[in-house]
Amino acid sequence: PLVLGIETSCDETGVGIVRGHTLLADALASSVDQHARFGGVVPEVASRAHLEALVPTMQRALDEAKVTLADIDAIAVTSGPGLAGALLVGVAAAKGYALAADKPIYGVNHLAAHVAVDTLEHGPLPEPAVAMLVSGGHSSLLLVDDLTNGVEPLGATIDDAAGEAFDKVARLLGLGFPGGPIIDRTAREGDAASIAFPRGLTAPKDLAAHRFDFSFSGLKTAVARWVETRQRDGEPVPVADVSASFQEAVCDVLTAKAIDACLTRGVRTLVIGGGVAANSRLRVLAEQRAVKHGIEVRVPRPQLCTDNGAMVAALGSRLVAAGVAPSRLDLPADSAMPLTSVSVAG
Ligand code: ATP
Ligand code: MG
Ligand code: FE
Repeated sequence: PLVLGIETSCDETGVGIVRGHTLLADALASSVDQHARFGGVVPEVASRAHLEALVPTMQRALDEAKVTLADIDAIAVTSGPGLAGALLVGVAAAKGYALAADKPIYGVNHLAAHVAVDTLEHGPLPEPAVAMLVSGGHSSLLLVDDLTNGVEPLGATIDDAAGEAFDKVARLLGLGFPGGPIIDRTAREGDAASIAFPRGLTAPKDLAAHRFDFSFSGLKTAVARWVETRQRDGEPVPVADVSASFQEAVCDVLTAKAIDACLTRGVRTLVIGGGVAANSRLRVLAEQRAVKHGIEVRVPRPQLCTDNGAMVAALGSRLVAAGVAPSRLDLPADSAMPLTSVSVAG
């Protein structure tokens, strides 16, 4: 099927078009620069930017794919989770287009879309698979038996998300926003073994109750303390070493737990999605560790890891192909949409 996907859950306005598993267009407009001076996404600013960017982004996607709205078989849109006002812009637009062009509409889960997008790069996902979703707002391990039916949560962060930790540590190092890509770059000049930062929830007593859960707030505090001590002693802060050591701590825990989940559940495929999946060290370490156990790691290219419209179209395409009923035209923007619902029931 030819499916168009609209994404507006945070600060990226994305419109993607796919045919089956083939990516035809991925148009993106970001308001990230407008948020940078606030050190985080400002919801009102994001909503207004979506409003201005949506129609031109839609047009760019259609041009890029060389199709018209009339050619599209279905429209998918992020229903949640995300910023309420931002989601509303995408959902309202999708309804308008669906009504005007008389097309079925699918309200989809943004997090499931972060998992589904890999099919555009590597083809159908072998199921069951373990999915590790690591983004700005979430860090979860999920068992995926049939993505169209939902996912089984295995564990999640008990405090900060991985991306949030990257953003907060970048901020305390004075590196700017969003922090993930900047730390990734800065870390390349540093020594990842120079500072032994804590690995949250990996001690034997924690593993008993939180085997597949994550905790990154203790790590963030440890980095802050380490930097403060340096500054108090009047010594320079080795920003590259701190970045590399922090990044190593995050990637070590994420990959160790993801592989443990695969081994425990007898699963041979690990798919990684969400903005933090763009991290160069995470990609290398996951591959290195997985290969030892005969586990295949699938991570889409960095551009598809962060928010985009193609991921929404990819999930929509999968739902259409599986014969899932479309959502109703009065589908909600649901800022707290749970991962147990992959699309809004019709
Ligand atoms: P969610 O998907 O949970 O709703 P979101 O949509 O805001 O949150 P994404 O766009 O999926 O999140 O990811 C953004 C996050 O990914 C930010 O925290 C950003 O710092 C992080 N990120 C992006 N690139 C990298 C990278 N190369 N290394 C580490 N983190 C990264
Ligand atoms: Mg973003
Ligand atoms: Fe996201």
